[in-house]
Amino acid sequence: MDTKDHIAVILVAAGRGTRMGGALPKQWQPLGGRAVLAQTVAAFRAAGLSRLILVIHPDDAGHAAPLGLPCVHGGATRAGSVRAALDALSADPPALVLIHDGARPLVTPALIDRVVGALAQGAAAAPALPVTDALWRGTGGRVTGTAPREGLFRAQTPQGFHFDAILAAHRAQRADAADDVEIARAAGLDVTIVEGEEENLKLTHPADFARAEAILARRQEQGMDIRTGNGFDVHRFGPEAADGTACQLCGVAVPHDRPLDGHSDADVGMHALTDALYGALAEGDIGQHFPPTDPQWKGAESAIFLRHAVGLARRRGFRIAHADVTLICERPRIGPHTIAMRTALAEIMGLETGRVSVKATTSERLGFTGREEGIAALATATLVKA
Ligand code: MG
Repeated sequence: MDTKDHIAVILVAAGRGTRMGGALPKQWQPLGGRAVLAQTVAAFRAAGLSRLILVIHPDDAGHAAPLGLPCVHGGATRAGSVRAALDALSADPPALVLIHDGARPLVTPALIDRVVGALAQGAAAAPALPVTDALWRGTGGRVTGTAPREGLFRAQTPQGFHFDAILAAHRAQRADAADDVEIARAAGLDVTIVEGEEENLKLTHPADFARAEAILARRQEQGMDIRTGNGFDVHRFGPEAADGTACQLCGVAVPHDRPLDGHSDADVGMHALTDALYGALAEGDIGQHFPPTDPQWKGAESAIFLRHAVGLARRRGFRIAHADVTLICERPRIGPHTIAMRTALAEIMGLETGRVSVKATTSERLGFTGREEGIAALATATLVKA
């Protein structure tokens, strides 16, 4: 991820939230197991932004302390509150500033990126959604007229600005304003509209909390798609061969007097790992994707199979978090080769070596591996929906 140190975020959370009811202002009420404002902070951190400043009511210092972020006290108006934060930032001015309602905890990294992206072209940008419902005027429970909705938008936050421009706009501002876009426009700044999101709601009424809880729960469920797959494979040793032969194991040619038999290069460890990936994806096994009856795979490099499984995981939106392979044999000795094996597997899977394990065990001279009739391999892989 590119660095975002040049962007500061002001979270405006000084309101008393009188429309919500309850003793606690809405930004401090629990949502998804933590305070609303803590969710909002987490949303910006998830977008790679770490320079955050809170605007709070002086009475709320105790609520804000656990967040461990710099705080300024809000003024009598929203504009005054934002101004206090801009003044605090001006000691070490960022290039860009995003100003966001603390009570919009469901803002996504994609939305934040759209606002920041638009600031490459202009001094100000803000998300909004076009009004789609018909608009009426009414009094006393009766419709008294209609209003055209064309060209009308529902404004959202974060509203993004070049820092110097919005600071100057605020310093020139005399009265309160609905939001920072109004202040920017009063100062003659052009404001680009970027696409808002229906789920970027501002918690205002008690029913908004229930909706936000449901959205968070759904996102968490989607974000928590973690899968573990296992694989197992066996190859028998072929007849003793001349010097210079080797067993292909986890991508490394390990010198041994008896090579492994198989249709492909018989890399038993890589086959087990490939099957672990297919298993995590519920995508069958290596024999289904590369039938041993198909002559084109005769003598094939097993890296082809592993690469296919890795590509399939990627296309399905998973990243490989970890893989672990165990080779079971009396001979050849595996220990001296495990670092080379981990490096080879990690390279094929596009992982750092620290996420790939290869280890070995004997079977105490018991069973077919103990009698040195062949080598068995077990593998486990963990995949996470990216
Ligand atoms: Mg095999």
